[in-house]
Amino acid sequence: MESLSQHAQAYGVRLTPRQTEQLAQYATMIAEWSPRVNLVGDASLEVIERRHFLESIALGAALREREVLRPDSRVLDVGAGAGFPGIVFAICWPGIALTLLEATAKKTAFLAAAVAALGIEATVLTGRAEDLAHDPSLRESFDLVVARAVAPLPTLLELTLPYARVGGRVVTPKGSRASDELAAATNALSVLGARVLSVPFAVPGPAQTLVVALKQRPTPALYPRRAGAPKRSPL
Ligand code: SAH
Repeated sequence: MESLSQHAQAYGVRLTPRQTEQLAQYATMIAEWSPRVNLVGDASLEVIERRHFLESIALGAALREREVLRPDSRVLDVGAGAGFPGIVFAICWPGIALTLLEATAKKTAFLAAAVAALGIEATVLTGRAEDLAHDPSLRESFDLVVARAVAPLPTLLELTLPYARVGGRVVTPKGSRASDELAAATNALSVLGARVLSVPFAVPGPAQTLVVALKQRPTPALYPRRAGAPKRSPL
């Protein structure tokens, strides 16, 4: 893990020995659970560290630098999967109040086990983003909603923007086709009450752009539509 801390430093993140240990333990857990639960495509330690951890660290560092992620932000990770970027954020920035939302129960069983074993603070919710967004304790209540590799932008915005407070943000890393996705998301943004900024993202790997949506108005209660609709017929 020494090289991971060195790489993290390149993004201005200085990992303590405890954080380095937590990341190592988290990587081991992912590798151990992977034969039973489909957590990541390639569960080699190198890919887990270099791709998933480092990209999550770089994302968090870019958001800290811009004060989008603050030391005590209320953060929701939608479609958390194995916990990227949410669990990495909670290890690196332990003051945040993190909620992990994931539809697949086997994955949330892993997330809950990881949260307990690593001694981090996080709430784990099993369910579809479309359903839980209508829960008043979750709706419009997060400072920052992140979603990595979950859906094309118009669908992703419908799954995430209802959770952001007015003045809060939705952030998703996107690849070289970010500008096409942005063009396709114009209607979704106006219906859901947000405007978008995109920020170049200096990190090795496929995500070269951060799409940052600023929530300007409450999202109409109709959204998100019932489970499956945001993907089947994007706004
Ligand atoms: N963010 C993780 C996982 C990406 S895979 C990473 O970057 O590695 C996408 C995940 O989103 C899957 O685990 C899938 O189960 C979950 N997902 C997809 N649609 C969802 C929805 N509507 N509600 C909740 N979770 C969803």
